[in-house]
Amino acid sequence: MRAIVLVLAICLAWPASAEAVKYRFGAAKQASSQQAESHGSYAKGCLAGGAELAVTGDSWQAMRLSRNRNWGHPELIAFIGRLGTKAQSIGWDGLLVGDLSQPRGGPMTSGHQSHQIGLDADIWMRPGYAKKLTRNERENIGSFTVTTGDHMAVNNRWTDSHGQVLKAAASDPAVARIFVHAAIKDQLCQTVGDDRGWLRKIRPWWGHNAHFHVRLSCPAGTVGCFDQAPPPAGDGCDATLSWWFSDEARNPKPDPNAPKKPARRQLVLADLPQACEGVLAAQ
Ligand SMILES: [Zn+2]
Repeated sequence: MRAIVLVLAICLAWPASAEAVKYRFGAAKQASSQQAESHGSYAKGCLAGGAELAVTGDSWQAMRLSRNRNWGHPELIAFIGRLGTKAQSIGWDGLLVGDLSQPRGGPMTSGHQSHQIGLDADIWMRPGYAKKLTRNERENIGSFTVTTGDHMAVNNRWTDSHGQVLKAAASDPAVARIFVHAAIKDQLCQTVGDDRGWLRKIRPWWGHNAHFHVRLSCPAGTVGCFDQAPPPAGDGCDATLSWWFSDEARNPKPDPNAPKKPARRQLVLADLPQACEGVLAAQ
């Protein structure tokens, strides 16, 4: 009898704890009414007291509103405003802003692995519009890529302003790193002059030719928010960048003898910091 009760108890407890927690975070339509705090790390965490990025700001427009991913730590919302103002002074008609985080952060039902703690933002390579876009336009207008078809260089959509906006973003003290396509990093390496310190934060990564991804550091004084290790010293215009253009990187050949990698497991609530349970439960 005791065994039956035990089995029954396990069965009842199992589905909730083993369920992919992305559905619970994806279903949260509003931020938690808590003090703003990023819990955990960029790809394993959540966001308390998230702030909503206004869908239309003085210097930005949020895109793909149906996704409800225009939420972030207040520091991220403030950063978008700062960068938007600088971008306008460079001659962009404002930023087109893609995904930030869900209202309570956490794993997403589709797309990104990171963007979980309200400190990541995707900003389109396509400059903004002087006119206010309709909701419908924000669903249907796409960004454009600034790299060539063979992904070895930037294409004719790349402008000096792109470089200046990336420089403005990387020079912001709140920013930890920015992910761009390797061809974009290479373009910057070749064209910027002696003022190169900011290049350290510009990091080559797959994709990222139609948007750049800004990652802020954990806000000062926060406990339980975990920064990534800082980028290596130097401007990164070196062999680590050349690797991205190598045959090994461009045409990876799987080793038939390598042990098979297990499929990535879906995150469950227990994988996240304990505070995330409270974030889900809060009003
Ligand atoms: Zn991103």
